Amino acid sequence: MRTTIKSPATIEGIGLHKGKPSRVTFLPAEGATGLRFISPAFAQSLPARLDKVAGTARGTNISDGKNTIYTVEHLLSAAAGLGIDDLDIEITGEEPPAADGSALPFATALLKAGLLEKPAQERRSLSLSGRLEMAKGDSRYTAAPAPGVSFKLTYDYPHPLVGKQVIEFLLTPEEYLVRVAPARTFGFSHEIEALKAAGLALGGSLENAIVIGEKEIMAKGGLRFADEFARHKLLDLIGDLALAGLPLKDIHIEAERPGHAANVNFAKLLLEKAI
Ligand SMILES: [Zn+2]
Repeated sequence: MRTTIKSPATIEGIGLHKGKPSRVTFLPAEGATGLRFISPAFAQSLPARLDKVAGTARGTNISDGKNTIYTVEHLLSAAAGLGIDDLDIEITGEEPPAADGSALPFATALLKAGLLEKPAQERRSLSLSGRLEMAKGDSRYTAAPAPGVSFKLTYDYPHPLVGKQVIEFLLTPEEYLVRVAPARTFGFSHEIEALKAAGLALGGSLENAIVIGEKEIMAKGGLRFADEFARHKLLDLIGDLALAGLPLKDIHIEAERPGHAANVNFAKLLLEKAI
């Protein structure tokens, strides 16, 4: 059966890339309408789906051609990680709040709103009949049938403070909340000026991101996990795969050096090969 939330929940803040104030209100969805954005400014709802992806530069953006919403992946990750199928996401502004750079504030708000199962609505899911592989640039993915929904993600970056991090994870809402949702976004100090010049990370600060400098890692309150970068990449992957519009089932996914553009291509491939 499909799941939505029981009551509304609101989160306010500033967007990570655009740096502008924004507010998101999660609303229960009666129908089998998936995850979708709504706004009084939109003529129609904007479904969070692969065919709406309009950009993948340092975040995943969706658009209906007229309205664009930037950096949707952390919010979508929270919904998918908790097993929510149907959610109306009312948004003011063009980007959800950065919150603390993780998916935890979204997940906490959704849990506070309460999850609601809809027994009359059948839940379809995405499974595979065989193994598949994909490579794009430096990113590599494999997926194969397996019990449950599990991931093995490798992040590596040639920086003495980063190196190689590997996370293996069996997805359940409880484990997602504790092991993945709190992992924060991060950037390298040497890229920040270039990002800002490109109109990105304008709302970024140590309140909502980890900054990796040449000699030190700057993270508010210290790192939450020794492998926080790999966990955040997994958080992003779960959010980007949510754009397939179907929950994963009986699948094992491995990803090496994933990025948003490759995640979106991989989600398309999964959907194409789904049984
Ligand atoms: Zn992210």
